[in-house]
Amino acid sequence: TVVSQEVPTVACAGLRVPLVTGGEIGYANLDHAASAPCLDKVRAAVDEFLPWYASVHRGAGFASQISTKLYERTRGILRDFVDARSTDTVVFTRNTTDSFNLLARSLPKHTSVVVFDTDHHAALLPWKGPNVRRISTPRTRLAAVSSVDEALADCPQGPRLVVITGASNVTGELLPVKEIAAVARRHGARIALDAAQLAPHRKISVRELDVDYVALSGHKLYAPFGAGALIGRADWLRAAQPYLAGGGATKLVTRDAEDLGVVWNSGAERHEAGSPNTVGVYALGVACETLAENWDAIVSHEDELLTRLRRGLAGIPGFAELRLFDAPVDRVGTLSFVVDGFEPGWLAAVLSAEYGIGVRDGAFCAHVATKRLIAAAGSTGQQAVRVSLGLGSTTEHVDRVVLALRQIVARGARWQYEKPEGRWVP
Ligand code: PMP
Repeated sequence: TVVSQEVPTVACAGLRVPLVTGGEIGYANLDHAASAPCLDKVRAAVDEFLPWYASVHRGAGFASQISTKLYERTRGILRDFVDARSTDTVVFTRNTTDSFNLLARSLPKHTSVVVFDTDHHAALLPWKGPNVRRISTPRTRLAAVSSVDEALADCPQGPRLVVITGASNVTGELLPVKEIAAVARRHGARIALDAAQLAPHRKISVRELDVDYVALSGHKLYAPFGAGALIGRADWLRAAQPYLAGGGATKLVTRDAEDLGVVWNSGAERHEAGSPNTVGVYALGVACETLAENWDAIVSHEDELLTRLRRGLAGIPGFAELRLFDAPVDRVGTLSFVVDGFEPGWLAAVLSAEYGIGVRDGAFCAHVATKRLIAAAGSTGQQAVRVSLGLGSTTEHVDRVVLALRQIVARGARWQYEKPEGRWVP
């Protein structure tokens, strides 16, 4: 065993990171579900745009014109990206969390909301009031559809919204969105799709799925942080109080004696007060265009790697994969697991320091799901390890994580680890 002081490190952005990560074998990023690295095409486009960005809608200058044009054009790109209806609005937000909070604030009074309790906190938490039903996610897709049916039958008269996650950020499994949407329609409900994990992996068609709203995040779509979108029906958004009060959301502000008169915009700008993230939105658009040209290649690349990964992990003693549903379902390249006798945070730390592999550990902002699925996998605890594949993943990365886990389980770690601030470090 080598003690902690001897772990070789290199400098990265002024910090020390384990040598293996920056060394010759290179970093294996297996954490695409958290945030996906910027595509080369996106990086090049942003580089080209950086000297020119300016505030949108606010200037006659050439830079401002370019920014406004690209910003507005990106609404159309996003509409196409999810095959939205031509009447759907595209509101730029910071991310999926922001999109759902905007939608939650835009619901008509007394809207009943039905949501699965295993959803990501971004989709689970924004809804408030007595008419929110958090249904327990059943173990089959069929039962999931019926549980929405039953919950809606039980809702009082008035507007209804069903919130559904496209792909689980814990297990990668796809939920039966189309089937749930069909049931929801029979009850006159609208459907909001959490596409944070689905959008980077599968083509989405709002029209085919028959959903009303889609929320997504740029940083999971191979663009940098800070830009996301809520795409969907315009009427509730148009009627709602502006999400933020400020410049850009207003048509006209007047002062008459002590009173301010405010005429708010009625389009997407109503909810986009303040100088928007022009660069982030542009990058998001370029990323979406790039993905849209490559769906077949993306899906087969990830499928192949996922099969290899699952096959490799299956034989590891004590390994248990978390699953939402009993029967196998279509899924994206994300999976979570526990290994009997090994703390997830410690495993993740060893993978990083000794093998240059980045994975996520914890409860994945889906505490209810993670706890329940660990119990269903026959284990205890509230945390797991997640491996998530993406465009940057290779067979070498997959083989490396499989071999690493086999070695760690068989022989332990090379170095000693301690947990000074709640996180294991060598
Ligand atoms: N929903 C799901 C399924 C997610 O995986 C995430 C991100 N982990 C979110 C919503 C929230 O995304 P963001 O943090 O970009 O708001």
